[in-house]
Amino acid sequence: MKRMDGQEERIAAYERCTLCPRACGAARNDGQSGICGVDAELYVARAALHFWEEPCISGSEGSGAVFFSGCSLKCVFCQNYALSRGGRGKRIGIPRLTEIFFELEEQGANNINLVTPDHYIPSIAQAMQDARERGLRIPFVINCSGYETTEQLCSLSGLADIYLMDFKYMDAEKARRYSAAPDYPERAKEALREMLRQAPEPILDAAGKMQRGVIVRHLLMPGMVRNAEAVVDYVYESYGEQVYLSLMQQFTPLPRLAEYPELCRRVSRREYARLVDHALSLGIERAFIQERGTAEESFIPLWNQEGV
Ligand code: SF4
Repeated sequence: MKRMDGQEERIAAYERCTLCPRACGAARNDGQSGICGVDAELYVARAALHFWEEPCISGSEGSGAVFFSGCSLKCVFCQNYALSRGGRGKRIGIPRLTEIFFELEEQGANNINLVTPDHYIPSIAQAMQDARERGLRIPFVINCSGYETTEQLCSLSGLADIYLMDFKYMDAEKARRYSAAPDYPERAKEALREMLRQAPEPILDAAGKMQRGVIVRHLLMPGMVRNAEAVVDYVYESYGEQVYLSLMQQFTPLPRLAEYPELCRRVSRREYARLVDHALSLGIERAFIQERGTAEESFIPLWNQEGV
């Protein structure tokens, strides 16, 4: 039997797409958009140094962030709404994506930070492989939602160095209400297991920059401390110090959330303190916590196709 080459595999993957757990079957090669909002082309809204990730990712030099359009999860509270709905991106090919990686490395980026890559993984994996073969030195960061299939993550094995996973829900009802994904907790647990199979121990260089490993982020939402504590409990009880936790409080209530009145406020200081105290009470040491000032809309980047 003849083996498929990379291009044939990509065409097959986008044919009746089942790349993500939505398995919506969109004919992306024919120009049809899936639930993720995009067809089989690559759309990038920004590629620039980014200084607002965790210190071991951004450092003082910045992380080379590539923001992709579209998202298979589409949370109602998304802080990058226009982008996640498939807009603001410029269509590019795989060779241009590979060039972007080198341009970011030349600008001094600590890593290539692929933001919401899930629905493009076959194309992005090709660009990652091409860049490695041509001598790209800095690590690749997969900055994702946790709603990925094990199969797609497996295809990144040997290419991805760092996983920066946003573990959103342990509460299936909240996952249904805000992301139409009641299976999110189970999918996220499977995804995390695969990420840790690929990167079982964190490795930081002498300057404290991560070279390999898994960071699990959790964005605390208003009134959802219990959900957040359940995420922290699960991750720490399952993986202990193999994982760095990042507890975030920057939730920004954007105007379109009127249908979800419970989300129309910021997280209170007391809620965030409860979550941090809970993590400390478990004895967690590998954790990042956030200053209050980061809960500002000014931290949402401009989607102006800079660097694309
Ligand atoms: S990646 Fe997009 S097109 Fe493919 S299954 Fe998921 S939502 Fe559907």
